[in-house]
Amino acid sequence: MSLPTVSTSTRIGWIGLGVMGAPMCGHLLRQGHPVTVFTRTPSKAASVLAKGAKWVESPLAVAEASEVVFTMVSSPLDVRQVYLGEAGLLKGARSGSLLVDMTTSAPSLAREIFKAARSRGMQSIDAPVSGGDVGAREATLSIMIGGEEEAVDAIVPLLGALGRSIVRQGGPGMGQQAKLCNQIVIAGTMVGVCESLVYGYKAGLNLETMLASITTGAAACWTLTNLAPRILRRNFNPGFLVDHFLKDMGIALDEAAQMGLVLPGLALVQQLYFAVQSQGHGKSGTHALILALERLSNTEIEPR
Ligand code: NAP
Repeated sequence: MSLPTVSTSTRIGWIGLGVMGAPMCGHLLRQGHPVTVFTRTPSKAASVLAKGAKWVESPLAVAEASEVVFTMVSSPLDVRQVYLGEAGLLKGARSGSLLVDMTTSAPSLAREIFKAARSRGMQSIDAPVSGGDVGAREATLSIMIGGEEEAVDAIVPLLGALGRSIVRQGGPGMGQQAKLCNQIVIAGTMVGVCESLVYGYKAGLNLETMLASITTGAAACWTLTNLAPRILRRNFNPGFLVDHFLKDMGIALDEAAQMGLVLPGLALVQQLYFAVQSQGHGKSGTHALILALERLSNTEIEPR
C-alpha cells in the first residue's frame, strides 16, 4: 500500500475543533499545510478558518479533499459516526489515505476501524494524547500510537508539530491501551491532589506556600503544578472535561473487566466523579473533583 510522503504541501483534513483540536490544527496550518476542516458546532472553527483553513460540510467531504485526516472528537460514539457513519470518512477517503484518530476512545473500536480502512486500501492509526490543553497549545503533547509501523513512520513528521514524545506502542488499538494506563494514573493523582488541598486548608496552611514546597519534591506531578493553582483561584473552566474523564474511566473499567482485572482505586475515583457530574459539573474541568470532596467534609477552600 503506498502511503502519502509528507511535505508542507500534503493536504490535511481535521475533524473536531474543541479545546484540543483547535490549537493542534492551528500548528499544522502554521507549518503551511492546506487544511480542510469540519466540526459539529461550526462556530468552533472560527480560529482555524481565520488562519486559512477551508470549511466543508461533512467528514466525507474532508476525506475527499485530504491525503491525511486527523480526528479529535469526543467519545467512541462520535468516532464511530465520523469514521463509519453515512457521511463518514471511510465513504470519502481514497485508497492510500492515512487516517489518524487522536480522540481518547476504545481500543476495540480502533481495531474495527483499522480493519475497515485496510479493506478499502487505507491505513488508520490510533494516536491519543496526554498533556492537556496546555500541551495542545504549546505543542508539547505525549502521543501514544497504535498501528502498523509503515503508517506510523509516514505520519511522524506531522505528529512532530503537535507533540514532544511520539511513541509507537504496538499494533492497532495499543495507542488507546497506553492512554488508558495514563488515565488510571491521572485518576489516582487527581484524588490525591484534591485531598491534599482540603487537608492543607483545614490544617491552616497557606496553600500557595505549601504548593511551592510540594511541587518540587517527590509529590511533583502535572496535576499538582497545573491544576492545583486553578483550584485555589476557584477557576473550574476546562481543561479536560469531567464528562470526558468519566468516558475514559468507563472505557478502562470495561477493558479491565474483560481482562478479569480488579481496579479498586479507579472504581472509587469514578464514583467520586459521578458525584461531581450529578452536582452539575459535567462540563467543568476535572479539577472540579475538589467540589465533591469539599461537600463530603462540609468545608470549602476560600478563593485566593
Ligand atoms: P471538546 O472540547 O469537547 O472537543 C471535541 C470537539 O469535537 C467538539 O468541538 C465537538 O463538537 C467535536 N465533535 C464531537 N463529535 C463530533 C462529530 N460526531 N462530528 C464532528 N465533530 C464532533 O473536547 P477536547 O477537550 O478537545 O477533547 C477531545 C478528545 O481528546 C476527547 O476524547 C478527550 O477525552 C481527549 N483529551 C482531552 C484532553 C484535554 O485536556 N482537554 C487531553 C487529552 C485528551 P461540539 O463542539 O459540538 O461538542
